Amino acid sequence: MYLVTIMSYCLVQGELSFKFAAAHFVLGDTGCERLHGHNYLVEVQIYGDQDEQKNLVIDFLELKPFVRKFIEDLDHKILLPNNNKHLQITENKGELDILFVPKNKRYVFPKVDVCLLPIKNTTVEEFARLLSEKLRPLFDKYANIDAIEVGVFEYRGQGCWKKITR
Ligand SMILES: [Zn+2]
Repeated sequence: MYLVTIMSYCLVQGELSFKFAAAHFVLGDTGCERLHGHNYLVEVQIYGDQDEQKNLVIDFLELKPFVRKFIEDLDHKILLPNNNKHLQITENKGELDILFVPKNKRYVFPKVDVCLLPIKNTTVEEFARLLSEKLRPLFDKYANIDAIEVGVFEYRGQGCWKKITR
């Protein structure tokens, strides 16, 4: 029997670099929250060995644009889930008509103010899952990376981490 020791590092891209402000409401089966906003924080951790060229897990300068693109799409927007069975979304002349079917509750927003996301609800769990999947191509680009972990927080101390592996 052989015991293999793997030297692994955890590179942290802290929350100070990634913040976005957005409005949302969480949907249940019979009710939904009132529209409100958060100043969200996003953290990313990359697990892996040092590469052989630069002795880095990943260059911060290469990681940041991946995350920043995701953040920019959400910043100062109304975030809506495009895959929620209780939400009916129709577009009309540059506006989105949003109907929460169980309560017949209706919103109309300018389309340019809305970011429709391929998720079921606008929870930090879903945001963390979505961003971690967007970072998955890093596994193809960097053979030394073992895992990617994304944290999304409504404020410091209230949020969710999602970790994905190869
Ligand atoms: Zn909220």
